[in-house]
Amino acid sequence: MKKPHDDPPTNWCDWWTEVHQLTPDIAYGWVPSHLTADPNDPNPWFWHWCATQNRWEAQAAPKHTLIAREPLHLEPSLLWTCCGTHGFVRNGQWESV
Ligand SMILES: [Zn+2]
Repeated sequence: MKKPHDDPPTNWCDWWTEVHQLTPDIAYGWVPSHLTADPNDPNPWFWHWCATQNRWEAQAAPKHTLIAREPLHLEPSLLWTCCGTHGFVRNGQWESV
């Protein structure tokens, strides 16, 4: 089901716990361990509004280092090559690059 930009994952993603909207275009959530594809991945999944595909896209970030869970801090930066969205998540905030 394709959701529009103004209907973000915090509205409808009920199988994740703690879905947080970082910006109007980016959200993250912690996937319950029985649903995650990789039990060794401690990182949240990210949703981004993909301007190229015109839809919300969900992706894991298994190669990133989780510096802190609360407030969220991951290194290095996140880059979605589908649309060029690029930035850091530090101190619970999105910083565009
Ligand atoms: Zn994209």
